[in-house]
Amino acid sequence: MKYECPHCHEKTFTPLQKALCGSYRTMGKPCPKCGRRACNGMTGIYFQSVTSIAMIIAIITIYLKATERVHSSMLIGAIILGYFVVNFIFNMFFGKLTEPIRTMR
Ligand SMILES: [Zn+2]
Repeated sequence: MKYECPHCHEKTFTPLQKALCGSYRTMGKPCPKCGRRACNGMTGIYFQSVTSIAMIIAIITIYLKATERVHSSMLIGAIILGYFVVNFIFNMFFGKLTEPIRTMR
């Protein structure tokens, strides 16, 4: 399974390469064939907003209910790690590649 480059329309990006392209707000990564930059589109940004809100709510809840400090900070660390993993996996399998708004020129 490969993803289409927004410039040359060849299927040049593997799911891992697509995830490494980053979000719409980043510079993206160059296509192996045409060398022009691609990044993940708006779907990834929406998903990221939803997961970051969920993460903040979870962290606040843990803080308010925490009785044992060490345990809760470990839990918060795990939630933050989970947030990055979930967004990375989302970018691997969902959404389309698009042209970044920022360019290197
Ligand atoms: Zn290309």
